[in-house]
Amino acid sequence: MKKVFIYFWVFLLVFFLLPAMLTKKDVEAKVPENNANENTEQTENINNNTYDYKNYGTIKLLHTSTGEVEELPLDTYLCNVVSSEMPVDFEMEALKAQAVVARTYTIYKIQNKKHNNADICDDSSCCQAWISKEDRLARWDEDKRESNWAKIEQSVNETKGKIITYEGKPINAFFHSNSGGTTELPVNVWGGGTEYPYLQVVETAGEEGYAQYSSEATFTKDELIEKLKTKYEDITIDFNNDEDLKILDYTDSGRVKTVKFGNHELSGTETRSLLGLKSTNFEIIRGDGNIKFAVKGYGHGVGMSQTGADTLAKEGKNYEDIIKHFYVGVEIQDINSL
Ligand SMILES: [Zn+2]
Repeated sequence: MKKVFIYFWVFLLVFFLLPAMLTKKDVEAKVPENNANENTEQTENINNNTYDYKNYGTIKLLHTSTGEVEELPLDTYLCNVVSSEMPVDFEMEALKAQAVVARTYTIYKIQNKKHNNADICDDSSCCQAWISKEDRLARWDEDKRESNWAKIEQSVNETKGKIITYEGKPINAFFHSNSGGTTELPVNVWGGGTEYPYLQVVETAGEEGYAQYSSEATFTKDELIEKLKTKYEDITIDFNNDEDLKILDYTDSGRVKTVKFGNHELSGTETRSLLGLKSTNFEIIRGDGNIKFAVKGYGHGVGMSQTGADTLAKEGKNYEDIIKHFYVGVEIQDINSL
């Protein structure tokens, strides 16, 4: 009788309790598995923060005001660059995109040296803007300094080692403030050929919401002539003749390609530089005795638009999406795999 009881319990155990226990174990097993994933991610983040650069770990920065060359860890340098190139109140994914763009631009400059004794300089019109941490903090409200700097450091640390490549090589990662909705081809800004196939005309919605989107410059007729004479001494414009002051043609991105100023035809970029306009995307409006230039966008318009990056981040795009939107056919690659 006892034996039957034992068989009964063994039967119960094998066919009901054991499978039930195993199933439960399976369910339980999934929990630590998820935790394990989280742990892996955390470990990756920690690894990211202590990324071991095989090359390019330090850079030689030329301070243009003193001529001094300073050797700095790459990512320390990048925190100062990001903090001076992009407003800190932009979205984190936009700041991360800026960090990767700045890192890529720096590596490109190291590989294509402009300065004899340094990798890069601190002048934005020559290489890339850089501001000391002390000066940066001083320009922020005191109660925001710590959190702002932490945000900048996060953008650099969470993208450590990441650069943008095209066909396995670091790209020339141009960027600007506001595209006015459409980016420009480099050939229309600096001339040259088709050496940057990743820099195309791309559109971004929402850039009109930023202060950098629209601006105006108004000149009297005399002021306009005076500005143009700095380059074209013999310039004369018949302001009563509409044909003597007008835009002749546009680039594919809708920016001004050529303007007729009386006896001279100037390119959009030359006009922008002589008149100090914020971009080549402008209209000429004749007023009462004045000539007004109504300008859209800020900067040369090539590559990543910073306000465009911020609008994409607000739509939920991550830094990789943002980068791939502005640079066509590129990859985000680990610098050690170059
Ligand atoms: Zn430079």
